[in-house]
Amino acid sequence: MKKYQLPPLPYNDSDLYPVISAETITFHYGKHTQGYIDKLNALIAGTSYEALPLETIVKTSDGALFNNAAQAWNHLFYFASFSPTGHRAPRGKLAAAIDKQWGSFARFQELFEAEAVALFGSGWIWLCADNKGELAIFPESNAGTPLSRGLIPLLAFDVWEHAYYIDYRNRRAEHVNRLWDIIDWTVIEKRYV
Ligand code: MN
Repeated sequence: MKKYQLPPLPYNDSDLYPVISAETITFHYGKHTQGYIDKLNALIAGTSYEALPLETIVKTSDGALFNNAAQAWNHLFYFASFSPTGHRAPRGKLAAAIDKQWGSFARFQELFEAEAVALFGSGWIWLCADNKGELAIFPESNAGTPLSRGLIPLLAFDVWEHAYYIDYRNRRAEHVNRLWDIIDWTVIEKRYV
């Protein structure tokens, strides 16, 4: 039985253009994300992990199962953060927490982008909250996720080359700078409870 399926995206493949092209969505979501889900299904089949929620698998596994479960979770989270017509800046208590931590939204964006550019090799840049609502930026290599640190993930930028190579070639800095234009902060705010 295939427990996990790739859900349809809440936007069309071409809706995020020119920040992310339909071709990148086809490969990054349709092939890479599908691939992690296929491997996850194969690895859990017939094991006790089959009965666990994906988040629990991520928190309790290691090796190939962790890599594929975390990449499946990370990508579903990442692709759910975009919309062609969302709010492009945080409001309310998340905006206040960002201002408290970094002084301004613009300064937070600058630091987040700098971490994305500095991360060596493949990985993710995360904005997360602890259980007191304090915010932090964490770079993670490969499939790394703040779920492993017991933190609440709010926002992720994927800096694996497969996320940007079709549209931006080697220009990671340009890609991450453009991502702000498609982040839907209404979605991000809902993760900050
Ligand atoms: Mn990716």
